Amino acid sequence: MPDFKTIDDAGDLTGKTALVRVDFNVPMNEAGEVTDDTRLTAALPTVNALLEKGAKVALMAHFGRPKGKVVPEMSLKPVAEAFSKVLGEPVFFAENCGFHEKAHAFVDSRSAGDVILMENTRFEPGEETNDPALAKDMAKLADIYVNDAFSAAHRAHASTEGVAQLLPAYAGKSMEKELSSLDAALGNPVRPVVAVVGGAKVSSKIDLLKNLVGKVDVLAIGGGMANTFIFADGVAVGKSLCEPDLAGTVKEIQAAAKASGCEILLPVDYVCTKEFKANAANRVCKPGDVADDEMILDAGPQSAKALVDKMAASKTVIWNGPLGAFEMEPFDAATVTAAKGAGELAKAGKITAVAGGGDTVAALNHAGAADDFTFISTAGGAFLEWMEGKALPGVEALRK
Ligand code: ADP
Ligand code: MG
Repeated sequence: MPDFKTIDDAGDLTGKTALVRVDFNVPMNEAGEVTDDTRLTAALPTVNALLEKGAKVALMAHFGRPKGKVVPEMSLKPVAEAFSKVLGEPVFFAENCGFHEKAHAFVDSRSAGDVILMENTRFEPGEETNDPALAKDMAKLADIYVNDAFSAAHRAHASTEGVAQLLPAYAGKSMEKELSSLDAALGNPVRPVVAVVGGAKVSSKIDLLKNLVGKVDVLAIGGGMANTFIFADGVAVGKSLCEPDLAGTVKEIQAAAKASGCEILLPVDYVCTKEFKANAANRVCKPGDVADDEMILDAGPQSAKALVDKMAASKTVIWNGPLGAFEMEPFDAATVTAAKGAGELAKAGKITAVAGGGDTVAALNHAGAADDFTFISTAGGAFLEWMEGKALPGVEALRK
């Protein structure tokens, strides 16, 4: 990862304070208990590395959407307790401190080796507006800045971008893993690269499709959005989810793919049904064979096999979006077959397989394939913007 400064570049941190942006936007129940500590454990490698270098560590994070006001239910206090359990050490919570004088005094009062959690960054009106005054106050807390929250890096906020310009800034361990995995999937991949893009609609993924056709060797389209591609080719899709208005956009994407030598792989058979519900009566159709009262809810078995064959002939797979309405059996079949196929190839070391997206992660878990993938991004919006080829402000600020 030559482009980015990492904690390894920070040298000895004895007597220094590291201000670390983490993603602690964890799910919490009504009793204020953290119900999934994945994001807390994800911060451990960075926190431990900084402690080993002799630093005092001040963590900052957002939680929920308080919109610049103090909303007690959105305090990070319960998260400090939960993180303390995960870390196995006390976590000193900067209660009612904000980021101004009280916060400076609180952080100054702690010693080397201590871990502090600041209050919700979004209690500050200047956080989401990237107010330079808030960024300056944040910078006063520490000697160096570490960003370990890739999932928040698509936003230019004071805690993700502003403060990064004011202190020596480094990528944390989770950030580093995310950036190097994404680089291996799309930035600097081993070819050939197969991109699998599914999901509901073309309209939500136009920028993503346009970026991918210029970068990958094969673009496999699945899910509801495949229906719009099929429709644009003049083939009937019955009452399937389809966006006829986007036929022109599909033509543009096809032309861009042709110009850059990217093959577009569409389903060659479909699973059709008359009812949008689990276990509805269904049949496998060929292109041109979908009746007016039928809808396509999944790619057919031949399509799933063709996709697995393409992946087997590739070196890199990048995946966003399920191939069918996977939440309802048996319309999960193509997604499950392709996910298992990609997982097995990655596990055997034959390909690098990277995936991301809320429903995609759920689909790969459903298929039991997630653990076999090389990397699964849980970053949501940041992952999608990165797949769209956009520069992420929080990442740009970490460049050498
Ligand atoms: P992600 O969250 O991973 O980016 P999307 O939100 O784009 O993925 O798409 C997921 C949704 O697409 C799922 O809810 C799935 O049911 C739906 N979907 C996939 N194929 C079809 C289809 N043929 N008809 C209707 N919905 C579909
Ligand atoms: Mg989704």
